[in-house]
Amino acid sequence: MSEITAHLTEIKNRIDEACKKAGRNRNDVRLLLATKTVPAERIKIAIEAGETLIGENKVQELKEKYADLQTIIHEKHFIGHLQTNKIKDVLKCGVTCIQSIDRIELAEKLNQRLHFEGRKMDVLIQVNTSAEESKFGISPQGAIEFTKQVAELNCLQIKGLMTIGLFSAETEKVRQCFKLLHSLKIEIAKLNLSGVQMKELSMGMSGDLETAIEEGATIVRVGTAIFGKRIYPDSYYWNENKK
Ligand SMILES: *Cc1c(COP(=O)(O)O)cnc(C)c1O
Repeated sequence: MSEITAHLTEIKNRIDEACKKAGRNRNDVRLLLATKTVPAERIKIAIEAGETLIGENKVQELKEKYADLQTIIHEKHFIGHLQTNKIKDVLKCGVTCIQSIDRIELAEKLNQRLHFEGRKMDVLIQVNTSAEESKFGISPQGAIEFTKQVAELNCLQIKGLMTIGLFSAETEKVRQCFKLLHSLKIEIAKLNLSGVQMKELSMGMSGDLETAIEEGATIVRVGTAIFGKRIYPDSYYWNENKK
């Protein structure tokens, strides 16, 4: 058995355990493989082992791996910071959901392009629940108003919320981030906005997926625990163009 499939088994056991502990249905939690920096051959091993959902952060990588992965059935989400001039490229690469809608300019330009192409796309609203300057995402205070604005854009189908929790060894502080996202989901769902389905909570990564599942995650995004350590620090992905 390869290292990747062995890690997958471990992660799935962790998800199973967390669901049991939280009294949740295992089928309500999906594993997304966060595949930034991971070459297509290694991603293929995971897909062949039965995984169906991957997430990329960078349009460049998405494009590079597209041809190699095209022959193998899987679903692809975009989970990174998206520059508006790269929207067209993302739409060419078979992405079914953009999890990182974090500003109105991006939502509007994406909607325009989708309208032009005559199609719709699933999106999640990214919320900055940790209040860290360096992270992308709409502020929790602005999230409801922002969701209302995005809901007006007909080609975007809002399916839920996404967040990157605080990086901390203190589980309770991390938990507050996930609780906050969950409470926003409930508040937004109550508004019954047309075209908005508050179904997904994308939260939890290698280090905090148990906490996220306890707090209601429906998608956990795991990279390091499956594919090993990356050479670039996460700040390279999370705060490019930010101080
Ligand atoms: C890299 C990344 C992950 C996975 O993080 P790991 O700690 O490697 O599991 C999840 N979500 C996003 C948005 C990421 O960029």
